[in-house]
Amino acid sequence: MDKLALTTRFAPSPTGLLHRGHALSALLAWRLARRSGGRFILRIEDIDVTRCRPEHEASILEDLAWLGLDWDGPVWRQSERSPVYRAALDRLVAIGVAYPCFCRRADIAAAASAPHGPEGPVYPGTCRHLAPEERARRLATETPAWRLDVAAALSVTGPLTWHDHWAGLQAVQPGGDFVIARRDIGTAYTLAVVVDDAAQGVTDVVRGVDLFEATHGQRLLQALLGLPEPRYHHHPLVLGSDGKRLAKRDAKAVGGETLRALREAGVDPARLGEQLLAMFHFDEQTLY
Ligand code: GLU
Repeated sequence: MDKLALTTRFAPSPTGLLHRGHALSALLAWRLARRSGGRFILRIEDIDVTRCRPEHEASILEDLAWLGLDWDGPVWRQSERSPVYRAALDRLVAIGVAYPCFCRRADIAAAASAPHGPEGPVYPGTCRHLAPEERARRLATETPAWRLDVAAALSVTGPLTWHDHWAGLQAVQPGGDFVIARRDIGTAYTLAVVVDDAAQGVTDVVRGVDLFEATHGQRLLQALLGLPEPRYHHHPLVLGSDGKRLAKRDAKAVGGETLRALREAGVDPARLGEQLLAMFHFDEQTLY
């Protein structure tokens, strides 16, 4: 039987320099697509205009070229697609599973009962309970964020699952009512990523395990918006020489660990790729 042609993507946010963890994600996604005779897509997730910089996008393209990775079709930029995300938000509002949230970060952190999830304090649901008049009054004068009412959403969809290639079948359990549109940029990562994975026909999402928990909300949004469900491949995180997680914002602190620094130091990219894959025993089997 012919192998299915897969579509994978690399979807970095241009908020800093890429590190070896990004190289592993991009390499795995690229190999998965190429081996199946499928497509590898590059999407720049630059909705957060407060943090994204064009020079970081330029260095992403340089790093990928250095790694020997090519992509299919034009590079997508999320900053050019706000109306599409707005339409998805409108649809969620129309089916009654989204509500405006006027809380500030500090209010949420201060709510005494707020338990902490992996993404920070779990939203205590304050604005879900606003009286309709109060909501209308504040909507007239304030720009809100929008949150998904997870309980209402799950009662529309029924129980859901998603599949991770390495971790197996997962029951959808979002940690709380998560933000689907930020007040400052009008959308949010979780909504934009779901809309674009579907619009680009992504069959397999390859990314670090730091986004594992975010997948619950993404699967729920897919079900609400009638979008197809991709397979997920969350790989272990590459740690820095200090044993800590690498992060783009630490690019300066870990200068020696950015792809640019490795490139400038004359590291052989093919050898780097082999080392990264060997680190987690990714063999031919785990990549299909
Ligand atoms: N844009 C996200 C990031 O740079 C990754 C999104 C994803 O792979 O789903 O962390």
